[in-house]
Amino acid sequence: MKQAKVRLFVEQPLGNGQTVLIDRDQAHYLFGVMRMEAGDFVALFNGRDGEYTAEIVQAGKRKGILLCQRQSKPLQLPPDLWLCFAPIKKARTDFIVEKAAEMGANVIQPMHTAFTNSERIRRDRLQAHAVEAAEQCGGTYVPEVRDLVRLDKLLATWPEDRKIMFCDEALVGAKQALGDAGGDKWAIFIGPEGGFSETEREKLRKMGHAVSLGPRILRADTAAVAAMTIWQQQLGDWRG
Ligand code: SAM
Repeated sequence: MKQAKVRLFVEQPLGNGQTVLIDRDQAHYLFGVMRMEAGDFVALFNGRDGEYTAEIVQAGKRKGILLCQRQSKPLQLPPDLWLCFAPIKKARTDFIVEKAAEMGANVIQPMHTAFTNSERIRRDRLQAHAVEAAEQCGGTYVPEVRDLVRLDKLLATWPEDRKIMFCDEALVGAKQALGDAGGDKWAIFIGPEGGFSETEREKLRKMGHAVSLGPRILRADTAAVAAMTIWQQQLGDWRG
């Protein structure tokens, strides 16, 4: 069987012998942009059934029909890690979402803090970024991008069993690491360009594990990647 050179996220169920109809945009991408045709193979995943190698049986301008042949990867769920961050400039927010999907977060939670500049986000656009990142990185799962929520509201209904890794810029240069924290439900908190307010910092310190990300102040997008690296290495699915 030929190798699939393109990966595509679809909503439909996948399984041996399952037919998958693709929409206009996906047909344009596969047959117009990638120049694929009937008889070629595509890797499909839907975030639930793992990855399937599918043969293109019909390639039209506005739609296409694919036939699943065999499972090429089982479903691999990421650890139960939420990334809570305050949206910054558009391109940098896109970057954070893309990296969270690549690095293995299962929920991406934008939050509005006292010093957040950006008033609005387009959740659907950010979700599409997460899908694209999963397609590129070989993941079989797409993290859920949630609606923007105010930080105080988020903390008021915080689940008791979920631990918080609070990246506290006030600890820049301190030797404050995650320590021997344990547990498998976690959330990382990253502030906006202006950082967290004193009130927010106090609350997060009480509720979570405050950590330093080294001797320099990192931009929020860099901080998100650094924090996910530390967490994945220590508590997540990068552990040896
Ligand atoms: N305006 C803030 C200041 O000057 O202190 C810096 C905010 S920083 C650009 C954005 C976020 O990244 C912070 O709220 C924090 O969550 C995280 N961050 C950046 N550098 C950090 C560090 N060295 N230690 C812990 N958190 C850090």
